[in-house]
Amino acid sequence: MINPSAPILVTGGAGYIGSHTVRLLASQGRKIVVLDNLVFGHQQAIVDEGVELVVGDVGDQDLVRELFAKHQFGAVIHFAAFAYVGESVTDPLKYYQNNTAEPIKLLQVMQEVGCKVFVFSSTCATYGVPDKLPITETNIQDPINPYGRSKLMVEWILKDCDRAWGLRSACLRYFNASGCSPDGIIGEDHDPETHLIPRVMMAVTGEIEYLEVFGTDYNTPDGTCIRDYIHVEDLADAHARALDHLAAGGESVRCNLGTGVGVSVKQIINAVEEVTGKTVPVKFGPRRPGDPDSLVADPALAKSVLGWEATRRDVRQMVGPAWLWVSGPNKGRYPQNTLST
Ligand code: UDP
Repeated sequence: MINPSAPILVTGGAGYIGSHTVRLLASQGRKIVVLDNLVFGHQQAIVDEGVELVVGDVGDQDLVRELFAKHQFGAVIHFAAFAYVGESVTDPLKYYQNNTAEPIKLLQVMQEVGCKVFVFSSTCATYGVPDKLPITETNIQDPINPYGRSKLMVEWILKDCDRAWGLRSACLRYFNASGCSPDGIIGEDHDPETHLIPRVMMAVTGEIEYLEVFGTDYNTPDGTCIRDYIHVEDLADAHARALDHLAAGGESVRCNLGTGVGVSVKQIINAVEEVTGKTVPVKFGPRRPGDPDSLVADPALAKSVLGWEATRRDVRQMVGPAWLWVSGPNKGRYPQNTLST
C-alpha cells in the first residue's frame, strides 16, 4: 500500500496525453509535479495553478533525486518519450537513448529512494503486425520498428524490477490516442504533426493543401487502414485507475487501452466532414511503409483489472472536440514556450 495522498511525479506531463492526465488527476485533488524538458511539451498545456512544472530531463538523476527529497512521491507516471515511428527507423539510437535508457536512470533513483509504483505509457506498437485480431495481451509482442522496441524493452525492464525489488507497474498499451478536452482549453499540438485526425483537420482549415490517404489496397472493407481511436480523456481516466489499483496494493498489470471498435481512414474523413460541415480535400497515395492493415484492441483486461472502459466509442465524439481545438482562439497551436532547461 502507498499513501494515496502522496504527491505524484508525472514525466512528460506537458505533452498531449500527459497534460490531459495531469488535468484529470489535479481535478481529483491529487498533488502533481510535472517534469518535462519541453522539447515537445507545452508549458501552456499545464492549466491548473496547483500543478508545479519543473523543466528538466528524466535522466537528470540529481534533479530527480532533489524532487524526490522535496516531495516524497508515492508514484511516478512516465509519459516522457519520443513517438515518431519513421524517425525511430532512421535514428534508432535517439529512441533507445530517450525512451529506454532515460527511464532506466529514473528507475534507478526510484529504487534508491524506495518508490515502488510506476505507470508507464506503452503502446500497441509493441505488438507489431498482430498475429490475431482483436489484439489481446496474449498476442505476440514483436514490434516492427525501433519505437515499438524501445517501449517493449521498458516493459521487460519493469517486469524484472518487479521480481528484483518489488516495483509494481502498470504498462498501458495505448491504441490511437485522439480527441481533445471538450472545453477546447488543451489539445493535441505536435510539430511536426503526422497523426491522421489532426492532419485531416489541417486539410480542412487549409494549413495543408490536402490530406494524403496512405494506401487504398489494404485487406479491409474499404481498402484503407483500420485503427482503434481512443479518446485522450479515456486514456487519462485509465491512468487514474491504474494509480488507484497499484496504490491499493494491486499487482503489476499490462493492458490494452482501446475501444475495441475499428475505424478506417475513410470513415475518419467522413466523420470529420460530418462534424465540421466542410469537405476534406483528399489525395489517394501509396502505402506508408510499416502500416499493418488493422489494429484493434480487445480491452477486456483493462475492464476486469482496472474497472476501466472507453466511454466514447464513436469517433465523432473525438473529432468534435478536436475541431473545437483547431477552430478555437489558438487554432490548435499552443503559444511558444518561454521556459526552457
Ligand atoms: N494516415 C493517412 N494519412 C496521414 C496520416 C495517417 O492515411 O496523413 C493513416 C495511416 O497510414 C494509418 C492511420 O492513418 O493507417 C493512422 O495513422 P496515425 O499516424 O494517425 O497513427 P498510427 O496508427 O500510425 O500510430
